[in-house]
This record gives sequence, C-alpha cells and structure tokens, in this order.
Amino acid sequence: MPDLSALPSVEKLAASLESAVTLPRPLVNLYVRRRVQHFRQELLAEKSHTREEIEEDVRETLINFASSRLQPVMNGTGVLIHTNLGRSPLGPRAAAALEAIGTGYSNLEFDLPNGTRGKRAGYLEEALACLLETPAATAVNNCAAALVLTLRTLVSEGKNEVIVSRSELVEIGGGFRIPEILETSGAKLVEVGATNKTHLYDYEKAITPQTALILKVHRSNFYLDGFIGEPEIPEIAKLAHDHGLPLVEDLGSGAMMNTDELAPIEHEPTPQECLRRGIDLVIFSGDKLLGGPQSGIIGGRADLVAEIKKEPFFRAVRCDKLILTTLQESIDQYLETKANPTDSDVPVLKFLRTPVEDLRERAKKILSQLPDGPSIEDTMARPGGGTMPRSEFPSIALKIVPQGQSLTKLSRKLRTGKNALVGYTTDDALFIDLRTIFPEDDGRLTEALQEALA
Ligand SMILES: *Cc1c(COP(=O)(O)O)cnc(C)c1O
Repeated sequence: MPDLSALPSVEKLAASLESAVTLPRPLVNLYVRRRVQHFRQELLAEKSHTREEIEEDVRETLINFASSRLQPVMNGTGVLIHTNLGRSPLGPRAAAALEAIGTGYSNLEFDLPNGTRGKRAGYLEEALACLLETPAATAVNNCAAALVLTLRTLVSEGKNEVIVSRSELVEIGGGFRIPEILETSGAKLVEVGATNKTHLYDYEKAITPQTALILKVHRSNFYLDGFIGEPEIPEIAKLAHDHGLPLVEDLGSGAMMNTDELAPIEHEPTPQECLRRGIDLVIFSGDKLLGGPQSGIIGGRADLVAEIKKEPFFRAVRCDKLILTTLQESIDQYLETKANPTDSDVPVLKFLRTPVEDLRERAKKILSQLPDGPSIEDTMARPGGGTMPRSEFPSIALKIVPQGQSLTKLSRKLRTGKNALVGYTTDDALFIDLRTIFPEDDGRLTEALQEALA
C-alpha cells in the first residue's frame, strides 16, 4: 500500500495560500485541488515526495498562475510597440473616453436629434475618412479581420483570383500568413514574380477573367536588399484600373505622421500616401503606430467600403463601443493636432520623440536612489510591433550586473513583483531601457529595483 501521508489537505493548503495571491477563492481551491491530485497520482505510482516539496510546488504553481492575470507591466525593453506587452498604450484622452462610455449608456446606435435608431460608428467613419483624405472608411476588430473581410467581399465564385508578388507573402506572427489568410477568405492565391524582383509584366500576365483584385502587402517586419526591384504603386494601379480591378494594400502599421520627422528612423509609408498613389483600399492596424486600440481600419473608394459593410461577415468582426470610443478619440486627436503633431498625447509618439538627454537625466535620478552597482548605458530602442525592422534609435538604459544573485533570478523577481518590470538581458547584465517607461512610473520603477536589489 503506497504511503499517502505526505499529501496535504486541499482545504488547509488552500486556506494557507489565500494570502499569497489575490485571486478569487474558488480559483485557489481549484488550482490547489488539481495540483494535489497530481501528487496523489505520483505517490500512488510510488514516486516519493515530502510534504514540504508538495506544498512548495503548489505554492509556486499558484503564484505563477496568479501572475498570468492581465495586469500592468512596466516596459523596459525599449521596444515601443511590443506585441507581447499589449502594443500601443492609449493616451489619457482615450482612457477618459473609455471610462465615460464604458460605465454608462451611450448613443452607440441611437440618433439623438430624431430619437430613432441610429447608425453605429457613423461619426467615426466620417472622421476616419477625413483623416485619411479619402471618400470612405470603416473599422473592425483588427487588421487581420479587416483583410479577411475585404477579400471575402471582393472575391466571388467565378472571380476569386488574387494576385500577390512573391516578395510579399509575409508572415506577420501569431499565425498570420498571407497565403493562409487568402485561403480562409475563399480567395485563390496567384503568386507572381520572384522573391527579389517582380515586374509590371508579371502582374499583367497573371490577369485573367477570374482575377478579383491585386493585393499589395507592406513588408512591415522584414526588408529586402541587394538585387531587388518592383513596379511603383501608380504603375500597378494603372494596370489594375485598366482591367477594372481594385488594388488593395495591407499596410500593417498605419503611421499617421512622418515617422522620420519624429526620430532618426525610416519613413514608414502612411495610408494617405498609399491612397494618393492609386491604392483603392488601404488596410492597417489601429494599435501599432497609430497608437489607438486594437482595431483594423479600411479606407478608400466609397463603393468598395459600402460593399464591405454589406458583407454578412462584417457583423462578426464589428467593433464594440469601447473600441469605437477609444478609436474615435485617437482619430479626433490626429485631426486636431495635424498642424502640430507633437501636441499629440499618444504615448508611442511621445516615446519616439523624447530626447536622449531627458532620458539620461531620469536615469541619473533613479540611479541616485539605488545601491551602488547599476550604471547608465547608451542603448538603441526600436519601434517594434513588426514595423520598421531596420530602424533603431538612440536611447538610455539602466544596466544592472547582479551581485549575489543570478541574472535569471533578478529578472524573474522584477517580472513577478508587485509592479511587474520587464527588461532585456545581454551577456551578464539586465537592461532597463527608459524610452518605453512612462516618466510618471519612475518612482515605481525605482521601488521595484530597490526591492529586487536589496
Ligand atoms: C501587423 C500586421 C497585420 C496584422 O494586424 P493585426 O491588427 O494584428 O491583426 C497585418 N498585416 C500587416 C502587413 C501587418 O504589419
């Protein structure tokens, strides 16, 4: 008979762990029961464990689970749009709107002057179109959904071929691959050109009576260099239009400003530029360089946008009021600050243009409150989020070579502390880049470091 005496009581253990985590009690119970059950099986299989071992394991498992709860994180990676850390933070204005609309009733689908049912997102669509300097626009849950929706709308049974250059069959991450997106949408991929070169005649030769559209995909997260070439957008647009075909571009990041004027980085094409050059529909994310909520924006020809809105799938990917209100604030703010984009409160744009000297001053102040050891390092920050893969720009980080504890242990302590802090490690040091830390978080950052280094 196996010895089960090491097995703790679920009730007692759960009660003793309640203060270790701030989780609802039923979840603590469930987790403890599951883990104790696991050890029961182990003991039954004659694997030996002590009571202390089991209790420690359960405690650690529970704490790990608790830390998976969505919570604020201080981003010390220097990557502005970090997909794992929630991409773009919202500015104060969008956050205030979120609270006002989220906690009350609103005119989401109500026409206030007439007292009748109203048009959802009517204002937002007008504002978006105005910002994009194009006849019409709309928004759905994310850029991937916007692309699937657009393709589903524009392809039909006998006309389902979508022409894409072989240099643009991009994988974005998180399972988003252009060939698979096309397949999901009922489109047939027609690849043209070579990886490094695509000519106008490649597109031309591929056009058949079954062609539904030509698709351009922005190489957001990688670049081609060397013996490369592709036709200019106006040339492809002319070809498409001569054949009565729409030219659609999946632009990805959707920068609304000249990124090269904010920081020493590449120029990211803007949706306005694409539309001006002959793209019929442009598609991009709301939570990358735009700095709004997760959403997918579609802008361009009014007849195409209207068709997209009539497609039944539109209903499945429409935005809720929280997204609509935060996006509305983001868009209004761009419209208002057009004359002077540096007035914008969008955090990623502020971070992009913070002078290195400001970061250095903050670093000095933080350092003066820490025990000896950490130093100030000149580093490079990156836009991230699958945008501008070539761009790095000067930044400042705290460099910490741990004393008396391993680098792994220190980093983990900071990640799982009361105020989670994520940095990056190279060789034998931990770096906390200040470019992506909100200045108002410097105090909490200092506290977290003081605690972890003590
Ligand atoms: C990021 C990106 C997407 C996906 O955007 P989501 O908003 O995450 O759905 C699609 N296409 C391109 C080119 C991108 O860069």
